[in-house]
Parts: sequence; C-alpha cells; structure tokens
Amino acid sequence: MSDKKRILSGMRPTGPLHMGNYLGALANWVNMQAQYDCYFFVADWHALTSDYENPGPMAEYVRQILIDWLSAGLSPDQSTIFIQSKVPEHTELYLIFSMITPVPWLERNPTYKDQIVQLQNKDLSTFGFLGYPVLQAADILMYKAQGVPVGVDQVPHVEITREIARRFNYLYGPVFPEPEAILTETPKILGLDRRKMSKSYGNAIYLADTPDEIEKKVMQMVTDPQRARKSDPGNPDVCNVFEFHKLYTDKATVEQIDKECRRATIGCVECKKIMAASLIEAMAPLHEKRHYYESHPEIVDQIMTEGSAKAHQVAIETMAQVKETLKMNY
Ligand code: SF4
Repeated sequence: MSDKKRILSGMRPTGPLHMGNYLGALANWVNMQAQYDCYFFVADWHALTSDYENPGPMAEYVRQILIDWLSAGLSPDQSTIFIQSKVPEHTELYLIFSMITPVPWLERNPTYKDQIVQLQNKDLSTFGFLGYPVLQAADILMYKAQGVPVGVDQVPHVEITREIARRFNYLYGPVFPEPEAILTETPKILGLDRRKMSKSYGNAIYLADTPDEIEKKVMQMVTDPQRARKSDPGNPDVCNVFEFHKLYTDKATVEQIDKECRRATIGCVECKKIMAASLIEAMAPLHEKRHYYESHPEIVDQIMTEGSAKAHQVAIETMAQVKETLKMNY
C-alpha cells in the first residue's frame, strides 16, 4: 500500500458531465492525484437506484464518463480508475453491511428525503434507493479509504459509512478505518438560466460541447436580472457570467469588467463574448484529449480493464479479511 493517504470517490454514469460536475468535483480530483492514493470509480450500480427503468444507455454513459474523466486529466498512472460492477465484491460487502445497518439510519438521511420530494417523476420507494448509503459504505470501506472528497451536502453519507464501519468493528472485530469527509471548495457557478446547472433543466454547458456550442450557450446566459439595458449599471456580484470570468479570464480583464459593468460602460453581449473566448481557450486541452480518446476506444477499454483488475485485487483481500473476522471463511 502506498504511503499516501487513500481516498475514494465515484460518479454515477447518468449522462455526459457538465461544467457543474467538473468544477464541483472532477477538477478537484485531478488536483488530488499528486497528493493522495486515489481510487475513482464509475458507480454504475448506483445509477440503477434512480434509473432502474431504463438501463439501456448505461454502457454508452460509462464510456462517456471515462472519456470525460481522462480528458479532464485523471490519469491511470496516478490513480486507480475502475467500474463498480467489474468488482462484484461490492455487492457482497453491501449485503453484509445491510444485515447490520438499522433502517432508521437510512430513513433519516437528508438526501434520501430531498430526492424523494425532488424526483417526483420517478418511483423511488424501492429497497435499493433507501439502501444506497449502505452500498456507498461498501464502496468506500472495501478499499479502506481514509478520506472521501465530498461537497457539504454529502457529509451525512460519509457519516453513515463511519457508523457502519464502527458497528462492524464493534460486532466482529477491527477491520475498517473510519473515513473522513474531505470538504472541497467549489465555485458557485449556475446554469444558463441561473438555476442549478443540471442536465434535467437543459441549462448546462457540457465538457463535450464544441467551441461553437459553448459560444451559443454563453450568449444565452441570464446575467444580472436587474440590468435590462446597457445603460443600466450592472452588478457583477450576482452575475453568473462574471463567476465564469473569475475562473477563466485573466485578472486584469476581470477587474476592468467589474468596474465597467458597474459604470454601465460595457454591455452584456461584449462581456459574454470575452467570457466565451476565455472558456473555449481553457477547454481546448480537454477537447484535444477527448478527440484522442474518442478515436482510440481500445485505450479507454484497456484503462477500464486494468484499473478494475487492480481494484478487484484489493477487494479480494478485504473480503478475505471480512470473512475471516465473521468466521465464515469455510
Ligand atoms: S456586463 Fe458582464 S458582469 Fe456585468 S451583468 Fe453583464 S454579463 Fe454580467
């Protein structure tokens, strides 16, 4: 095992990744690779918890998410990149953990309650949906991860994992570390319409968007809602275009736009054109890598196979230890 602290995180393959996914998680993962022993997995079984009625596009989504990751800078030389369902031990540990997890721990999970309200168009009154934090605990503890990079809203999931680890260790013997949530800073960018960026709202800029598509989308972005005409002074502090400028435009230009917007000497159309150009330039290396991986599907397959085999070895060792501790190693 590496001397570096081990961390694990995953994403559900439910469609192409957008800038919100990138800035909210993936960009941090890329930066963490030098510092941690990273395990990143495509959570295809988790995708089934909400999309169980239509698993058809999953194979394509799995491939697309891998291409998104690799284009953004995840490297198989630095990280173990794998597919959850290629390591069947996850289901075995999930089953064992489900035996010891009290149902009220799952029912009080705030994300569970939120999602039931938000995803009214789906029937989520399933055992799998209620139990997904148990599967997450199996994902994390299988690799004895010490840290899990998450946003604030996911801290309760890590807490359930810690509780399950504690309960297992108490009942049977010490096997699992209690992982800590590693809180990551994320910029507050919104979708084109100022709602949360989400593929279900149709307001997202995707990592796979071409420069033309990026430009068109940026030109549609809602800016400071109080600024109706160019002659009205604007407020960059409430403008989503400005949030992107802060990330992708050079500092001197950002300062100038800040002043000119407040004095009404720059219009939103001009401001958006500058932002679109900065964003397109920043995304160019990702587009180049995407083109490479799209034209070399065999390399993506190899990364997926080798990463999953490496993860599988760790899982076999953990399950041997679990079965020995349970005295079920017959
Ligand atoms: S000028 Fe730029 S920062 Fe100001 S409101 Fe328009 S788009 Fe936003």
